[in-house]
Amino acid sequence: MNSLAEQVKQAHRITLIPGDGIGPEVTEAVVAILEAAGRKTGCSFDWHRHDAGADAFEKSGEYIPKALYQSIEQNRVALKGPVTTPIGGGFASINVTLRKKFDLYANFRPIKNLPGLKTNYPGVDLIIFRENTEDLYAGLEVMVVPGVAQSLKIITEKGSTRIAKAAFEYARKHGRKRIHAIHKANIMKLTDGLFLDCARKVAAGFPEIEYKEHIVDNTCMQLVLNPYQYDILLTENLYGDILSDLCSAFVGGLGLVPGANLGAECAVFEAVHGSAPDIAGKDLANPTALLQSAVLMLHHIDEPATADVVQQALEHVYGEGKTLTRDVGGSSGTRAFADAVIDAMSSTR
Ligand code: ATP
Repeated sequence: MNSLAEQVKQAHRITLIPGDGIGPEVTEAVVAILEAAGRKTGCSFDWHRHDAGADAFEKSGEYIPKALYQSIEQNRVALKGPVTTPIGGGFASINVTLRKKFDLYANFRPIKNLPGLKTNYPGVDLIIFRENTEDLYAGLEVMVVPGVAQSLKIITEKGSTRIAKAAFEYARKHGRKRIHAIHKANIMKLTDGLFLDCARKVAAGFPEIEYKEHIVDNTCMQLVLNPYQYDILLTENLYGDILSDLCSAFVGGLGLVPGANLGAECAVFEAVHGSAPDIAGKDLANPTALLQSAVLMLHHIDEPATADVVQQALEHVYGEGKTLTRDVGGSSGTRAFADAVIDAMSSTR
């Protein structure tokens, strides 16, 4: 029985962005699972739902409505489904805009196999720390003259130092052994060179953690040959984005990998995958990536017991292997998978 203090505990106010494409389906599944877990641990949620992107524009004339900005400012924690970014034109990426607006400079992406799910690379356990606000993602592009486009790659000492610190401090706190800074400083001598200089300076303050540097193209090959040599990858924005999708294949694909965008004031938790328009609205999406992002969120808001209930139930479902979604070799839909995770809560506690 929970103590009275636990029972009357205030609901966590969380900004919820269902997003579009598969976003609403996976978000609905995750909310149902978190509500069920919360009923077991005495933790409750006050979800503040907001649209973003094309849907928001249709309703309010704004891609990111002011009410959404205010909600994140007040709650300081958001759980976000994917929002489609138009390719080659249209409005700016909602993800990139939110990361810049709230200075969510650290993108944390743990890549870890789920027990029971067979992949070509069992036992992978690595983390990507991706700088989240600079690089070619600064969005500073101009058409210089017709036929010549230019994009500015911005790398700063401040941005590089703080992401390196975030990675090294995490490594120290969690007993991780090795950090590889990923770069292309042989070609981009000033920008990637500055990134490496900052990483080296930070590394000097953490002598117990092995520090190495790998060139990004070689890293792709090394990862496919032997991902076990890596523990933490410290990257700029673009390299981290690409390597995240590559690394997701080690653990079963994009449907599985969680992410957290962390700043000094706020945090936005979201899956690594995009809005997957090819499977949207068909009850085919795997909600695991967003669910594991929500587990990161539960730790962030100091609800470790609720996080454990969710993680154990999730692992139980994968361990049994009976109710999995198609992307990982099963035949179940999003809702059936979510129901199985909720059912598993009674057998795992
Ligand atoms: P973005 O550039 O917006 O981040 P992306 O390149 O990561 O997007 P996605 O939209 O995530 O691309 O989709 C890539 C592929 O992975 C698609 O075939 C999609 O169906 C699949 N996929 C992505 N997420 C999931 C999921 N949650 N469940 C099942 N399949 C998924």
